[in-house]
Amino acid sequence: MIITGAGMGLGLATAKELASKGAHLVLVDYNEPALAEAKTEISREFPEVKVVTVFADVSDEEATKNYVKVAVDTFGRIDGFYNNAGIEGRQARMTEYDLDIFKKVIDINLMGVYFGLRYVIPVMQKQRYGRIVNAASVGGIRGVMNQSPYVASKHAVSGMTKNAALEYGRDGILTNAIAPGAILTPMVAEAFRQINPADPKAAEIEYAQHNPTKRLGEPHEVAKVVAFLLSEDNSYINGQTIAIDGGESNIY
Ligand code: NAD
Repeated sequence: MIITGAGMGLGLATAKELASKGAHLVLVDYNEPALAEAKTEISREFPEVKVVTVFADVSDEEATKNYVKVAVDTFGRIDGFYNNAGIEGRQARMTEYDLDIFKKVIDINLMGVYFGLRYVIPVMQKQRYGRIVNAASVGGIRGVMNQSPYVASKHAVSGMTKNAALEYGRDGILTNAIAPGAILTPMVAEAFRQINPADPKAAEIEYAQHNPTKRLGEPHEVAKVVAFLLSEDNSYINGQTIAIDGGESNIY
């Protein structure tokens, strides 16, 4: 299994969930200390699992080719791919959005996911088997104020997921996306710091009030769904963007 953005948050939680089921792992991240810490933690908890780390920025095509090569050289195949790495950018209205940050969000969230698909799918085609989960968001289903490039990139991921499903289903490859709501990870903690720098906890409590469950999600609640979609138990779900948001995206 390859997991990008495995150093923390949803990537790390999913790596642990997969390790608990005995999967061998290729962890990819551009935060080297976080990557090393993730490997140490997983190896301590699950000593029987083989863990390989690759330092890579997913928006770099050559770095993507390299992490795919490392996975194939090490394990001979790629059964599952969690195409997860992504960034939120800054909170700002569209016309005031910093252009460099806008382009960076698109480069990582859209091009990074595309490069992953471009180089992992041919390996899975040869095997005639593969399971892929792309990181979309509720921001890939509806608008989110002050997050234009994020919302644009996540809608694009949802669209690309549909196309991958159409084009490669015949090769035994099932491709889906997940659309988490607000799940408490370092990324979401940073968003609350931007929304209310003086009192991020107040921003978090206020946000949770809009959710039908009146709480935010936990990383393990996403990890369980991703682990299912990456497993052989998923035999017929293809091209879907699955909301994991306590029902929030149903509110009109
Ligand atoms: P996070 O910031 O907590 O962790 C992301 C990890 O990805 C970090 O280790 C970071 O170093 C790594 N990363 C970021 N850009 C990278 C790059 N270019 N190359 C390699 N590694 C990179 O984020 P998270 O909350 O765990 O989010 C993971 C994914 O899920 C993202 O795509 C995010 O948009 C999506 N998502 C998260 C939430 C949520 O509520 N947490 C909601 C919707 C979607």
